[in-house]
Amino acid sequence: MAEVLVYVDHVDGAVRKPTLELLTLARRIGEPVAVALGSGAEATAATLAEHGAVKVLTADAPEFTDYLVVPKVDALQAAYDAVSPAAVLVPSSAEGKEIAARIAVRIESGIITDAIDLEAGDEGPVATQSVFAAAFTTKSRISKGTPVITVKPNSAPVEAAPAAGAVEALSVSFSAQATGTKVTARTPRESTGRPELTEAAIVVSGGRGVNGAENFAIIEALADSLGAAVGASRAAVDAGWYPHSNQVGQTGKSVSPQLYIASGISGAIQHRAGMQTSKTIVAINKDAEAPIFDLVDYGVVGDLFEVVPQLTDEVKTRKG
Ligand SMILES: Cc1cc2nc3c(=O)[nH]c(=O)nc-3n(C[C@H](O)[C@H](O)[C@H](O)COP(=O)(O)OP(=O)(O)OC[C@H]3O[C@@H](n4cnc5c(N)ncnc54)[C@H](O)[C@@H]3O)c2cc1C
Repeated sequence: MAEVLVYVDHVDGAVRKPTLELLTLARRIGEPVAVALGSGAEATAATLAEHGAVKVLTADAPEFTDYLVVPKVDALQAAYDAVSPAAVLVPSSAEGKEIAARIAVRIESGIITDAIDLEAGDEGPVATQSVFAAAFTTKSRISKGTPVITVKPNSAPVEAAPAAGAVEALSVSFSAQATGTKVTARTPRESTGRPELTEAAIVVSGGRGVNGAENFAIIEALADSLGAAVGASRAAVDAGWYPHSNQVGQTGKSVSPQLYIASGISGAIQHRAGMQTSKTIVAINKDAEAPIFDLVDYGVVGDLFEVVPQLTDEVKTRKG
């Protein structure tokens, strides 16, 4: 069976969920061979094996942390040369997409970014994408070279599928460009204790209807009762009520959670572009004519200041 390279996103050996989702998709098209780089790379092996990796290629070197993405591209290329895979899958983060684009150029292959599903096809893997502000769903396959595909978080279930996960050291020789851009400082982002917006299974978002930074506390309370991330419309972000890093939409982040709850958000096309692929959408809006109600699975016409706290209480009660 053909091997499929899966680029591993991990933090000191803790594998992030989108990588486990990639393994589910990789198994549909071949045998997953994981590529884990940097500090803690070997510690990823047990989790990757549990989710279907037949092999885990690892490399650690100061270059992976001290410089931007090129050393990682060098390593992925070394893995590509060693394995001759049927496809290369990378998580659709900003860094993942840069790595994927660079490897595609190097191996003279086509690339598909932000896929939301992947299936085997007679002439290579077929990727599903949601395009033009989620107005269309397309299916495409790469016609040149080895397919390089980035996949959005929450596109596939995480499934256990135990495999050998044999660890092999990857020998990497860094290119002249690898040390071109040095990281000179790092400032850790203050942790909110909430899941990462783009990876969260549930997102609770607030818009202009929230009417003030202080009122976002009720959005956060609902999010916390559900273990969700907090999102915001651009109107709320532009008003300075919530950080730009939490903006959902065309010029913000793209989310695809199992559940998206929009409160006081009208549903402008640019907002929809970032959340329309969510599996279940709930909106709370006092205007029954708000466009958001065109795409919801469940809609509540009401004042969010009454509805959201009641919902939070009910969630807490049911959770015991
Ligand atoms: C190039 C471009 C890029 C853009 N990118 C983005 C983007 O990435 N993300 C994004 O979100 N927008 C984006 N926008 C802006 C977008 O067009 C909308 O202006 C924005 O999404 C509106 O935000 P909103 O829904 O919070 O506000 P509004 O459209 O003002 O809607 C507020 C809603 O809250 C409801 N409401 C008010 N009070 C209450 C209450 N008490 N209880 C319940 N409901 C209430 C109202 O009925 C209304 O429907 C972009 C625009 C442009 C031109």
